[in-house]
Amino acid sequence: MITYIAPSGSTFTFQKTEPYTRRDKSVTSLDTWQAPCAHPGCFDFAVVRVPVGADPASCKAFGKVHCQSHVLTKTQVKERWLAACTEANTKITPEILQQLIAHRRAGVPCSTLALTYDFSESRIRAITSKHVKNRTYTRKV
Ligand SMILES: [Zn+2]
Repeated sequence: MITYIAPSGSTFTFQKTEPYTRRDKSVTSLDTWQAPCAHPGCFDFAVVRVPVGADPASCKAFGKVHCQSHVLTKTQVKERWLAACTEANTKITPEILQQLIAHRRAGVPCSTLALTYDFSESRIRAITSKHVKNRTYTRKV
């Protein structure tokens, strides 16, 4: 049994080599590997197909950790990233964070946002500062 442990910790097991017809009708072979789906309680597999003989260590495909039904959408990946950004030091939800960033980018002062949202001015400045460039000039009306 040939196995490969991906950086994610998933253990891929080599399954088989299969012929594969490209869109342009030319024929090649693909190696199929699989690893247990990372979703809790799922017994399906994350299946990866790569060119025959490809070194798993240099294939991005082995970053896959979920089966077909548990693969994350781009939106879910973004949501997880936003959640990770916000959960560390605040109870500010990703939705609120996006709103605050949008208001700050539109030029709304932190002091005004502090009145609208239930967070202090300094906290709003701290969490949005990474996403909003400091404006030193005065906006013309
Ligand atoms: Zn799954």
